[in-house]
Amino acid sequence: MNNVLIIGSGCAGLTAAIYAGRANLKPLVIDGHEPGGQLAITTMVENFPGFPEGILGPDLIENMRKQAQKFGAEFKSGSITDVDLGKRPFKITAGNEVYETRALIIAAGATARLLGLESERKLIGYGVSTCATCDGYFFRGKEIAVVGGGDSAMEEANFLSRFASKVYVIHRRNEFRASRIMLDRARANEKLQFITPVVVEDITDVSKGGVETMILRNTQSNEVSTLPVSGVFIAIGHVPNTRVFRGKLDMDENGYLITHHGSRTKVPGVFAAGDVQDHFYKQAVTAAGSGCMAAIDAEKFLEANPG
Ligand code: NAP
Repeated sequence: MNNVLIIGSGCAGLTAAIYAGRANLKPLVIDGHEPGGQLAITTMVENFPGFPEGILGPDLIENMRKQAQKFGAEFKSGSITDVDLGKRPFKITAGNEVYETRALIIAAGATARLLGLESERKLIGYGVSTCATCDGYFFRGKEIAVVGGGDSAMEEANFLSRFASKVYVIHRRNEFRASRIMLDRARANEKLQFITPVVVEDITDVSKGGVETMILRNTQSNEVSTLPVSGVFIAIGHVPNTRVFRGKLDMDENGYLITHHGSRTKVPGVFAAGDVQDHFYKQAVTAAGSGCMAAIDAEKFLEANPG
């Protein structure tokens, strides 16, 4: 029996683990299928307070993990396949393992969104990627593309230009969602070429088991063109990891968990933190802040409801 089980080991989950650990609750953290969350696959983080020179995402997350372990947090790997929130203790299933817990903190984060093309799905890992940090190295000297118009797309395109000979930024509108500073940095990079307003109709060549071209359609002229590339990085946002909570917790139309009065969900004793409940701020520091809130809320809940 656990006092607090935390689903997810990104910025929110680890901050919750640090606080719950320091409150002597011996939290159990279930890593999930992307240990470390999105910070683990990002590069330099320049806006996390306390690091004037910036800090690499994987280093930041590793430090948080060590800090949580120092205060007694335990870690188990596994993806959550079912949850029973009907009564306490809650039952959390991860494959063959079933965990019982008096309080639950959901910090399961969000996963990269895909375009939804059949060819994209078949070529993931064969030239199509959602993680520049993981796969950029494979494209040394190659021409590649990044799809998206947000900060992620700009960051990935800049990062990938260290390896690639050319990086096309493919975006469906002429306007960009990316912040001014990230966009300016990308525009100043001579290896980047912007192609807008276009949508990706297809990626070839599935029959050859690798990426050869992108088929693009201009949304204004409807003109279809072919762009030869060796790799395609999809950077079009994220989907919250909330499938197992469907019908059990309140969600908005995009599947983000709805919280109230801090981190509370509609089930007493179940709290949510980080990107799983935040489609607006989505920052490392806000995820950390909400993880702290969830741990404090769980601690107060357990004081009042020890059972
Ligand atoms: P985002 O801001 O939601 O941007 C997603 C982009 O993908 C948008 O340009 C969107 O186009 C496009 N898109 C979405 N669905 C699409 C589809 N089906 N087909 C084609 N294009 C599609 O997501 P993000 O860039 O991942 O950023 C998420 C958050 O993290 C933001 O708050 C951002 O500031 C933050 N972030 C910060 C940093 C940093 O500061 N270092 C780095 C990365 C991310 P439309 O604009 O047309 O909707």
